[in-house]
Amino acid sequence: MTQISDAKKGVVTKQMKDVSKYEKIDVQLIRRRVASGKIVIPFNKIHSPKSVGIGKGLKVKVNANIGTSREHCDIDEEIDKAKASLDAGTHAVMDLSTGGDLDKIRLSLIKNVDVPFGTVPIYQAGIDAIEKRGSIVDMTEDDMFNSIESQAKQGVDFTVVHVGITKESVVRLQRQKRLIPMVSRGGSFHMAWILHNDLENPFYENFDYLLEIAKEYDITLSLGDGMRSGALYDSNDRAKFQELLIIGELVERARKQNVQTMVEGPGHMPLSDIRPNIEVMKKVTDEAPYFVLGPLVIDIAPGYDHFVGGIGGAIAGFYGADFLCYVTPAEHLCLPDKNDVRDGVIVSRIAAHASDIARGIDRDVDYSFSKAREDLNWDDMFAFCIDPGKAKEYRKKRLPLEDKSSCSMCGKLCAIEIVKKYLKD
Ligand code: SF4
Repeated sequence: MTQISDAKKGVVTKQMKDVSKYEKIDVQLIRRRVASGKIVIPFNKIHSPKSVGIGKGLKVKVNANIGTSREHCDIDEEIDKAKASLDAGTHAVMDLSTGGDLDKIRLSLIKNVDVPFGTVPIYQAGIDAIEKRGSIVDMTEDDMFNSIESQAKQGVDFTVVHVGITKESVVRLQRQKRLIPMVSRGGSFHMAWILHNDLENPFYENFDYLLEIAKEYDITLSLGDGMRSGALYDSNDRAKFQELLIIGELVERARKQNVQTMVEGPGHMPLSDIRPNIEVMKKVTDEAPYFVLGPLVIDIAPGYDHFVGGIGGAIAGFYGADFLCYVTPAEHLCLPDKNDVRDGVIVSRIAAHASDIARGIDRDVDYSFSKAREDLNWDDMFAFCIDPGKAKEYRKKRLPLEDKSSCSMCGKLCAIEIVKKYLKD
């Protein structure tokens, strides 16, 4: 049984009910959209996370990537990062660890994460191949599929598979002459494997087998964006769209087999490229949920890429992206720490909320906040705001000297107080 198979039979699962309650949307509409693949609810029973719906008509969700690298590996630090991301309000967490004991790290993180938990299993397959046989290109097909199945058994709720990196899309990439040919780690593993072995991507060639594994655990497949652009110059090119066309066909096959799928997207792209990218993606996948990294709308702001991704994320959400993968200030520079993770989640939540507001969703909270602001009711303002801790810290830092109901920006010259006194009904 998967969420899709139940939905197609008319069965409303507990997860659909939870999503309906949270989103304030009729449960039958949720069920119909799960049945058609336009909404996914990543939920592996072994992990049993909170029910989070991603897709058409729902609030835009946020994902936080954490994980070790081969250069820096501290399991306790990763658990702290997971907790920081949850405290900041992330809707999902992905473990992208590539250093240390990957199974131990993953199992420790799953235990501490109560929202959908995602991974990129090809990392483990590639790293095992380096250790056992000397190189990523020596991965066997069994290594690849086993990594997916073993992580499914550990309780992973959604998993990235770079099924659109095929012989065909790699040829397109070679002809494209990009400025930066590829920035996806998983994508580069597959590309190297395909070229070195002169074989087709096993996840593409044996996609039905992949679907069988996914169906058994109701793992949501996130069809990975191996061709995402790593520079504005490479945005929305033929390589990207070739991958997207392949993915569109695979989404259709997965839905027929009752496997939940979402699709991953850019990457670096100018603001003006976001809308066409999303429109094409939604068209060729028949409105699959879209999971975007950023998008990063300029290349030249390392240290501030969480803002760059937030700007792109807000526009992307407005035009139909459903799930924003956060970007931290450490992006392109180093492995993020706990504070970077926290800042990344908050900025992505702001972007997601801005998209929701523009789509007419979730406006009540801003109304309530503004009412509290007009009343100079600080407790209510803190209760409704995205990051109460930071807001309280600022207010406390410089309280007004005399009129404590206002703030130290204008003090006795508080416009709200003056207007209240003289502008009568
Ligand atoms: S003092 Fe100025 S900034 Fe502060 S609440 Fe009043 S009008 Fe707003």
